[in-house]
Formats: sequence, C-alpha cells, structure tokens
Amino acid sequence: MTVELIEHYINGQRARSTSERTQDVFNPATGAATARVMLANSADTAAAVSAAKGAFPAWSAMPPIRRARILNDFLQRVRAHKAALAEAITAEHGKVFSDACGEVERGIDILEFACGIPQLLKGDYTEQVSTGIDNWTLRQPLGVVAGVTPFNFPVMVPMWMFPVAIAAGNTFVLKPSPTDPTPSMMMAELLKQAGLPDGVFNVVQGDKEAVDALVEHSDVQALSFVGSTPIAQSLYGRGAQLGKRIQALGGAKNHMLVMPDADLDKVVDALIGAAFGSAGERCMAISVAVLVGDVADQIMPQLAARAAALKIGVGTDTEAEMGPIVTAQALERIQGYIAQGETEGAQLLVDGRNRQVDAHPGGFWLGGTLFDHVTPEMTIYREEIFGPVLACVRVPDFATGLDLINRHEFGNGVSLFTRDGNTAREFSRQVQVGMVGVNVPIPVPMAWHGFGGWKKSLFGDTHAYGEEGVRFYTKQKSIMQRWPESIAKGAEFAMPVAR
Ligand code: NAD
Repeated sequence: MTVELIEHYINGQRARSTSERTQDVFNPATGAATARVMLANSADTAAAVSAAKGAFPAWSAMPPIRRARILNDFLQRVRAHKAALAEAITAEHGKVFSDACGEVERGIDILEFACGIPQLLKGDYTEQVSTGIDNWTLRQPLGVVAGVTPFNFPVMVPMWMFPVAIAAGNTFVLKPSPTDPTPSMMMAELLKQAGLPDGVFNVVQGDKEAVDALVEHSDVQALSFVGSTPIAQSLYGRGAQLGKRIQALGGAKNHMLVMPDADLDKVVDALIGAAFGSAGERCMAISVAVLVGDVADQIMPQLAARAAALKIGVGTDTEAEMGPIVTAQALERIQGYIAQGETEGAQLLVDGRNRQVDAHPGGFWLGGTLFDHVTPEMTIYREEIFGPVLACVRVPDFATGLDLINRHEFGNGVSLFTRDGNTAREFSRQVQVGMVGVNVPIPVPMAWHGFGGWKKSLFGDTHAYGEEGVRFYTKQKSIMQRWPESIAKGAEFAMPVAR
C-alpha cells in the first residue's frame, strides 16, 4: 500500500521537499499511521519565503477592498467545505466531529472580521496642523510574515493569523504542526480557488528546523507563534535580537473559581465541558477548579460521577463526547502526570488510565481524570498537563482563590461562577489574566476583540486577531504635507512649531 505523502504548498502549488526528512501522521483513534508529512529544511523554507516576497509588491498594491473580496470568496468556500475540513481535523487530531465543526466556525468568525479590512486600515487625518499643513497617519503592511501553529486547532489557529495578515496586504508562510498537516493544504487549495494570487499564502510542513529557518530569514518581517511556553519564549527572544516583530502565545493553566452562591448544577456542567471537551487539549480548557468554602463537598460526588461516565470514542461517532489523545507520546506524558499527582498526595477520584475503546484497541485512549485536594506546590497544579485531567483545589474564601490564581505563572484564561455582581466586578478588575469569563467557562474572545493571555501565556505586545492583530501586521506611517502656495520663503533653523 502506498502511503500518502503530504507536501508543502509554495507559489500556488504543491511542492516536494529537497529534504529527505518525513514524519508519520497518525489517526489517533486507531493508532495507525495514515500518511507521511515532509519536514522542510532551510532551502524549502527559503523557497516559500521567496515566493511570498515575489508576490508582495502586487498584493500589497491591490486595493484593500479587492483583497477583501478574495477573502470573502474564500470564506464562502470554507463554509461549503466545513464538513470536509472538520473530517480532516478529526482524522488527524482525534477531536469529535461536532467540536471540529465548531473550530472551523470560529475560524470563519475571523475571516468575516478580516473582510472588513478597508474599514480597519482607515487612518487618521488632521487638517491644518499648522497653517497650510495637513498631517495624517496610515498603516502599511510589513512584507513577508510567518505563522507557526500548534496541533490542537489546525484550522482555527492559522485563521487567527493569515486572514488578517493577508487582508492587510502582507504575504504569508504558514508552518503548521506536523501532527495534523492536512487541513493547512486544504486551506491553501481553497485560497487558490478563491482567486488568491500565487505566492500570497504558502505552507511549509515541518518542525524546529523550518521554524528556525523562518525566524532567521532576513526577508521574514514578523512571526506569529502559538504553542508551548518554552518555545514561545525562545522565539520571542531570538526575534527581538533580530529586530523582528514577534507575537508568541504560550501555554496555560486556566482556573475556574466557584463561589458558594453559584448555580452549582451549571458549574458541574461547565466544568465537565471545559475540562474534558477536546480531551482537555485546548489552551482555554479549564484544568483547575478552585472551590470556595463548602462548594467541593457539594459538587464532588456529581463531578466524579460525570467524569467517570464520559463517553469516549472515535471522533466520527456522534455519541462520543471525547475523542482520543493526539499522540502516543502525549498519552504517555499525561499518564505520567496522573501518576505524579498520586505520588505527591492528591486524591485521585477518577482515574482515566487504561480506558479502552473495544473496537479500536490501538487508539490513544484516556478517560476523564479527576483529582481532589490538590495543593499549589504539586506538579499537577503548577505545570500544564494538556489532557483531560481536572485538578480541584479547596480554598476558604474569595480572596485566597484570587490570590492563588494571580500567583500562577500562566495567565491565559480564567472563569468565575457566582451570582453576585460585586464579586464578579472585583474579580474581573483584579485578576491577572488576559481573558476572563463570568459564568462563562471558556471565554474565547470574538473575532473583533482579540485573543491573548498574560504572563507566561503570551510574549509580545499585541494579542492575536481583532484590531490588535491588524496593528501587529501593519506599521504606522505619518505623512505631513503642504503645497507650494503655503510655503514661506527662506530657510528656517528653529524647530518647526504650529503657526
Ligand atoms: P508545540 O510548542 O510543541 O508546537 C507548536 C509549534 O512549534 C508546532 O508548529 C511545532 O512544529 C513547532 N515546534 C516544536 N518544537 C519546536 C522547537 N523546538 N522550536 C521551534 N518550533 C518548534 O505545541 P503543541 O504541542 O503543538 O500545542 C500545544 C501547546 O500549544 C500547549 O502548550 C498549548 O497551551 C499551546 N497553545 C496555546 C494557545 C494560546 O493561544 N495561548 C493556543 C493553542 C495552543
């Protein structure tokens, strides 16, 4: 049987590597390798950058409304191919099909936002800053920009980046995760069908070698990264040394603070969905429940029963609530954390290890896992597990819970459940986290608000997408102008001031 080889996409067509390196792509529900993906070397990466550089002059000169129309055509095609994209996500990532459809929908939100680029690029204008002189600012694209994305949202996270980047007039090189590379190729084909000129959007498949080649390449002006914190931090540092714009989103440990006055049935629903949806492999998953007063005693039996009863199955099974873990290595890592939690003294109420799906014994299966009596010094509290493991911490009051959250090194998302307005207000005001939900478990901001955490969850000044995204992918120019009729005769040696 010949195994499909997933290629790069450079200058409007599929392209072979000059590199010999490849990596298996798995269906995590069966454990079987379904394809091999090429891993780019620096020459492959340079070819993609060169195609993007070649496309930049014409693309950046195209009126924004015409760029927006091409994106709008692409948007319609993404809608029409939503099921096919979601199937590809489920096949390589493992998440359930309905969740994969939701991912595509959230990507579409950003596309819709990017179609408004003519409005977003409008500058400011001041008439008569001095007699006969006008001053205005405008925003221009940077040139070739790159995006490096994680395995967990192979459609949505690239769409946090490239729609805004190319709408603003940049050309783009995407380096997706080699774990689930197929959706990136599908998006490249759909962009071409929508009329995007060749070279405006390119894909290099690969790993560290391709990422390093992108950040080092002198023609890459800016890089957006989403992935784990050590890589985010190191790319941010290297990019800064090279004088590049870097926006590097990292890991997370999202808490949900539950007050005794909250609707506890809704809290249980929220925790089960937010901790175990997508097998906990979301950067906005809730991985820590901070339970105030007697909340833990009240909800723990229900939480344990629901975690144990989660329906685990193949993502295409419409009954399944949770699919497999993405890779065998990730499964082993998460199982290691569960063992460590036990060793360090947390109370393991539900153990997801050794959970099997009979029809698919080779799949990377893990059930929902629930720990109670977790304390801040434990490894399972401090580190990102990125799996279906919920750690419950008991605290006496609101202030202790808030302080705990603020002391954590990550600050991506957070949620509070309460019925009290003042508690909600003070929490939102004082919490040191970038994205806050009040009675909303996963507060992923809408397309026009921008996405980003604080502390070790984001390195850089601007959040992804929204107006911050437009600022990241453009630079401001200020123009001051007057016409000969208003120019006074004679050289001026003093600092010009308004007259
Ligand atoms: P990862 O850090 O392993 O990989 C991310 C990207 O970096 C991939 O494209 C990968 O090929 C590349 N890469 C891997 N090793 C590299 C290296 N040494 N140097 C340069 N590039 C390298 O992350 P992942 O496992 O794909 O995704 C999970 C992580 O992503 C979690 O930490 C999660 O919290 C994070 N994440 C964060 C957000 C956010 O918005 N903050 C969103 C989604 C995922």
